[in-house]
Amino acid sequence: MGSDRQVTRIGVLALQGDVSEHVLALQRAAVAATMEVEVVEVRKPGQIENCQALALPGGESTTIRRQLDNSGLAEELKAAAHSGKPILATCAGLVLVSKEIEGAGRVKPLGLMDIKVGRNAFGPQKESFEADLAVKGLDSPYRAVFIRAPAIVGVGGNVEVLARVGGAVVAARQKNLLALAFHPELTEDSRIHQIFLKMLEA
Ligand code: GLN
Repeated sequence: MGSDRQVTRIGVLALQGDVSEHVLALQRAAVAATMEVEVVEVRKPGQIENCQALALPGGESTTIRRQLDNSGLAEELKAAAHSGKPILATCAGLVLVSKEIEGAGRVKPLGLMDIKVGRNAFGPQKESFEADLAVKGLDSPYRAVFIRAPAIVGVGGNVEVLARVGGAVVAARQKNLLALAFHPELTEDSRIHQIFLKMLEA
């Protein structure tokens, strides 16, 4: 009704995982970036189409993949990625958008990003840890939380590496896809989510 405010709608895939944390983090980042953003939880076919960007949370990639197939959302997600909508894929989300997963695994990747991923790459002795990352585009270290984290073990030529822990790539971008092995939704620092919001301007 008569409102010409430009509100950007961002979806958070809400099949499993830390959904509410992403919703809050995106809302916080939007305030910091002085953007009007509406964040919606995506569960049903037809919703992705109405979002300008999408976040895939951490959780259990096997479960999320199964539910993507059962809900009919897998094809819509692929279409959104191919149409150029910004997609933030964190942890289990990163596993899902990859082209290849190391070793014989139970997860069938969606094949959206030209990366090869190792699941639980930091081993059981390092189930969860924090690290100060030098992230390309940020002018001071970013304290990142890793939980049973995957790592990117191979990247294609069109993938830009944004951060590493030791030799492992833990943040990367390929055009409209931003993939992170860690959990930016679990810390107060909203700079990573702001990088994602900036991708909406491109
Ligand atoms: N290791 C998990 C997986 O492969 C991801 C862990 C997480 O999202 N925190 O699904």
